Amino acid sequence: MVFHDTPEPSEAEFDRSLRPGSFAEFVGQDQIRDNLRIAIAAARGRSEPLDHSLLCGPPGLGKTTLAHLIAHGMGVELIITSGPALAAPRDLAGTLTRLKRNQVLFVDEIHRLPMALEEYLYSAMEDHAIDVVLDSGPGGRTVRLGVQPFTLVGATTREGLLSAAFRSRFGIVERLEPYPPADLEQILQRAAGRLHVQVAGDAASLLALRSRGTPRMALRILRRVRDLAQVEQRPVIDRSIAVEALDRLRIDALGLEEIDRKLLRAIADRNEPVGLKTLAAMVDEAEDTIAEVLEPHLLRYRPARAHAARPHAHGARLRPPRPAARQRARRRTAVPGVSQS
Ligand code: ADP
Repeated sequence: MVFHDTPEPSEAEFDRSLRPGSFAEFVGQDQIRDNLRIAIAAARGRSEPLDHSLLCGPPGLGKTTLAHLIAHGMGVELIITSGPALAAPRDLAGTLTRLKRNQVLFVDEIHRLPMALEEYLYSAMEDHAIDVVLDSGPGGRTVRLGVQPFTLVGATTREGLLSAAFRSRFGIVERLEPYPPADLEQILQRAAGRLHVQVAGDAASLLALRSRGTPRMALRILRRVRDLAQVEQRPVIDRSIAVEALDRLRIDALGLEEIDRKLLRAIADRNEPVGLKTLAAMVDEAEDTIAEVLEPHLLRYRPARAHAARPHAHGARLRPPRPAARQRARRRTAVPGVSQS
């Protein structure tokens, strides 16, 4: 498993128990939080559904959490589904027609929604109706079913894969950025409090620095450090326990894991541009994981020297990302030497 990838089923309960219950508990991303708060208050004031909202950003940054907070703020239940879970229009028809007025439908990984369903959603989003096909083929009949005004909240790690037509139907588009270490420290200390474990300040700073700007990663590391502290009968998670746990997890000083180092080594060893398919085969990892999880993070690092990816591209010659380095990273196209073909 890639340590910072999507949650395992066993983690879902852990994630749920630590999920902020209100916007006040949601750390960082101040502008996004404020924009959503204002939009929710305004929509409630008008007794209307919130505009359809698209939340973009790498895994583990809080998109699902924000969807829960939106529903909570609107005072409605959150209905959750995901792009890969929806294959045919009938999968969506039941969900859409059962929605109550102003309810929030959360579609995770919305970029994986089949094109036919994307178009199907348009009419639900805009016309509050869907056309259900009763018999296919010549002379086939369709019946129009009403859909209550609702809010679609889509989450995506690959905003670029959504068609422009689909994207333009979202009145609110928010892009989550990796968190600065100070925010992650706050998230870690809050979680530690809930888990009834004590984390020393310098240990929390270290864990935050190694969490690649991602709350899910910070919380996963905390879980492992807590295990180690328990087994070694240490009442407080101090820096030495934190260092030992990070070593055991093979997370280096830059927050890179073995798979990141393997990827950089594979690129450096080829010494020429390498396609995503080839790279995936070389490091034995799914193409999607490389494109959606590993590459966006590696792009935030700055080579210590020009061409540092060669010949020792195993993290030692990289420097940690600067704050907001993602904007600059966006202007580049890929990890040096990686082509998206
Ligand atoms: P995503 O949907 O983007 O993959 P999640 O919303 O599932 O990410 O967040 C992963 C974990 O990190 C959850 O346990 C969540 O509670 C926690 N988390 C994410 N963002 C924040 C935040 N801003 N403040 C506190 N906890 C957060």
